[in-house]
Amino acid sequence: MTAIAKAPLIDIADLTKSFEGPQGDTFTVLDGIDLRIDSGEIVALLGRSGSGKSTLLRIIAGLIPASSGKVDAGGAPLVGANPATAMVFQSFALMPWLTVQDNVELGLAARGVGRDERRERALQAIDIIGLDGFESAYPRELSGGMRQRVGFARALVLQPDLLLMDEPFSALDVLTAENLRNELVELWTQDDFPTKSVCIVTHNIEEAVLLADRVVVLGSKPGRIIHEARVRMERPRDRQSTEFEALVD
Ligand code: ADP
Ligand code: MG
Repeated sequence: MTAIAKAPLIDIADLTKSFEGPQGDTFTVLDGIDLRIDSGEIVALLGRSGSGKSTLLRIIAGLIPASSGKVDAGGAPLVGANPATAMVFQSFALMPWLTVQDNVELGLAARGVGRDERRERALQAIDIIGLDGFESAYPRELSGGMRQRVGFARALVLQPDLLLMDEPFSALDVLTAENLRNELVELWTQDDFPTKSVCIVTHNIEEAVLLADRVVVLGSKPGRIIHEARVRMERPRDRQSTEFEALVD
């Protein structure tokens, strides 16, 4: 019996991305990027500010196109928005005039999910992420940590094949960030967590090692992958930065 290999969630080869500068010149932000994310992997994209991490994540989400190179999603070239992904943003990006419940339901409404199913799925996501009892609250009534929980619920409710997170903890104070990070580690090892594959952007190496199975480091100017490592520890909480196995250097 031959196993049928599942197509990678994302398969990027020799990708470049250039932007137009203020004088009409072009500058290259990403150059020669090869990145493959398989189902079930948790990948951290690590790099300094300006190395192109957010740009790469937005290309994976299909929010912006690559300038050249291959971007396949689920075995086919990605055209337009990537429906298999959902994004958690650094700045939360909640709708301030909507309640928690309505913020979480919004993406489902946009995808044409009916009212009853929206409600049920939103309540489930709200429950999983620890926002029980806050359904009718408005974002302004919530702390930063609680707001980002809404950001997570809004992404999780879409049950994406690949959850994308762009520095989801960096707008939070240190303790709140640590709590939420640790909770997530617990959550996504549980069977009922809706999403098994994650790509998280961070500039925090501790965070990368705690959360990810694989760490990919982007260098700057132009952004290219300068290092890739697998994190070896089985239990996420026991991971230490010293437990790296270099794959590429
Ligand atoms: P990071 O997330 O690693 O901090 P970004 O991907 O946000 O890096 O940005 C990488 C570089 O690309 C920066 O120099 C930034 O100014 C530039 N850049 C990002 N988006 C655009 C855009 N839409 N137009 C022009 N330049 C951009
Ligand atoms: Mg960024």
